[in-house]
Amino acid sequence: MPAAPFEYYAPATIQEAIALLTQYDGEAKILAGGHSLLPIMNLRLAQPKALIDIGKIPGLSGIREDNGTIVIGAMTTHYLVESSSLLKQKVPILPETAAVIGDVQVRNRGTIGGSIAHADPAGDLPGTAVALDMQLKAVGPRGERTLSAREFFVDILTTALQPDEILTEIRVPAMPPRTGSAYEKFPNPASRYAIVGAAAVVTLDGNGVCRKASVGLNGVTGTPVAAVGVEQALVGKRLNAQSIQEASAKAADGLEPLGDIFASAVYRAHLARVFTKRALSRASGRV
Ligand SMILES: Cc1cc2nc3c(=O)[nH]c(=O)nc-3n(C[C@H](O)[C@H](O)[C@H](O)COP(=O)(O)OP(=O)(O)OC[C@H]3O[C@@H](n4cnc5c(N)ncnc54)[C@H](O)[C@@H]3O)c2cc1C
Repeated sequence: MPAAPFEYYAPATIQEAIALLTQYDGEAKILAGGHSLLPIMNLRLAQPKALIDIGKIPGLSGIREDNGTIVIGAMTTHYLVESSSLLKQKVPILPETAAVIGDVQVRNRGTIGGSIAHADPAGDLPGTAVALDMQLKAVGPRGERTLSAREFFVDILTTALQPDEILTEIRVPAMPPRTGSAYEKFPNPASRYAIVGAAAVVTLDGNGVCRKASVGLNGVTGTPVAAVGVEQALVGKRLNAQSIQEASAKAADGLEPLGDIFASAVYRAHLARVFTKRALSRASGRV
């Protein structure tokens, strides 16, 4: 089915884009790569009156380092994230996650900002965003504000962004020394979307004791979540097969996993534990 009729705008500046969002008062949508928005418009699950294409606004795409922080423009494609030598060196879990999104066509068009703003429970980047506690810059008619990933995701396909705000920039600190990370997912065999994904980042001290652990899970519940029980169980411990196994057993504690045609709630909880263990094992091996 084709999408319902809509107006199309390609503003040249962020201010113009915000003015259009304000004018349409919640009835317009930002268009980034279009790889999530256009399919749901064709299904008529979304019928915006206008699309505001931000692809022609200069400065929204690119990856740079600013004083030890990596800054990624919201319009940076998955392919650019996957192939960035700066990211491979400073925040390797990001290229690792981007590389397993869909297929090469999807990665050439889809953007990091679009994936995060869309907040699909089956999306890969939201779990990694939580593990890295990304700082997300939003710009709107009231100025700009920065949200942390752990407060950004509100519900299925719902974020803390207001309808007149645009996600412009993602900031992540470069990983400190003695840090390892890994992203593991159980993909849907047809679409490659994550049925469950686990992103792990661990930092050890000079004696091999875990100083900091972050685990983000996607696909388990309606929003990506931090596996706080796992994180707490690891800090202060030497990471080995036993401590990782014991901590990973807590991955689904306190969560209400989704159940659907792809995986029951019980199976998703099981996958959360298994994939947390795999991600932590690889992350600790990489320190
Ligand atoms: C066949 C197929 C397979 C896929 N497989 C995977 C997969 O395995 N893993 C995965 O994670 N994803 C997958 N995707 C989704 C893909 O990663 C999308 O690119 C991504 O989810 C959305 O990014 P986009 O740039 O295309 O955003 P769009 O589709 O343009 O936008 C998505 C939503 O976010 C909003 N939005 C976009 N950018 C901004 C912004 N800067 N500020 C505010 N709001 C914004 C839009 O208004 C819209 O509501 C797949 C898609 C397809 C078509």
